[in-house]
Amino acid sequence: MDHRKILTQVRGELVRKREELQGTLDRTVVRIKDGSDRMADVLDRATVEHDRTVELMIRGRESDQIREIQEAIRRIDEGQFGVCHRCGKAISPRRLRLAPLSRLCTACKEKTELISRGGAHAAHLGVEQHAY
Ligand SMILES: [Zn+2]
Repeated sequence: MDHRKILTQVRGELVRKREELQGTLDRTVVRIKDGSDRMADVLDRATVEHDRTVELMIRGRESDQIREIQEAIRRIDEGQFGVCHRCGKAISPRRLRLAPLSRLCTACKEKTELISRGGAHAAHLGVEQHAY
């Protein structure tokens, strides 16, 4: 499959995913509005408030995802898509199809993961040393 075809395919998937998320987001907003109209006594209000907090949290995550997708679509349109953020090399088409939102190539991604794993390991050792 050539690069342009992959881009078109990935872009289509991203647009669909964005619409899906936007739909969920709209429904959540409607639910929050409904909830505030139904508030009766204090207990109900507390429940509604709690639901709202959870809903808002989910909404925040969804908005973040939408922003990320939007960003990826923009990169496709500007011809920047598929270029590694760190080393500037092309990200493999296979990786792009599997994880279209990735900004790092496999090599850079592995390096980042290695560093974070190493960090966690060091922290673990630190705790053990402290215990003895
Ligand atoms: Zn890279």
